[in-house]
Amino acid sequence: MTLLAASSSPALPLTAVAALTVLAAACGYALLCTVSPFARCKKCEGNGKRRRSGTSPKRGWKTCRRCKGNGARLRTGRRLFHATRATGQAAQRLHKAGTR
Ligand SMILES: [Zn+2]
Repeated sequence: MTLLAASSSPALPLTAVAALTVLAAACGYALLCTVSPFARCKKCEGNGKRRRSGTSPKRGWKTCRRCKGNGARLRTGRRLFHATRATGQAAQRLHKAGTR
């Protein structure tokens, strides 16, 4: 009974709590993308090299194609930010070219 009373207490509605949680998560992710835009490459786990499948362990290493051997990948949020900026610049360039 105490649980029921707690849930029906005049607190924030569940939808508001959910919205706030999503907003907080989005803000946290945006901050993370700003502070550290690079994350460890998932494919090679930050090594920059991957084991070639089906070959002997002696000569089985190749550069990771995903991160091109850096071992780091740009976060999805940061890539999105760059993409929107790039398209904006491209649009501006097109606009300038059109006016000339
Ligand atoms: Zn990699």
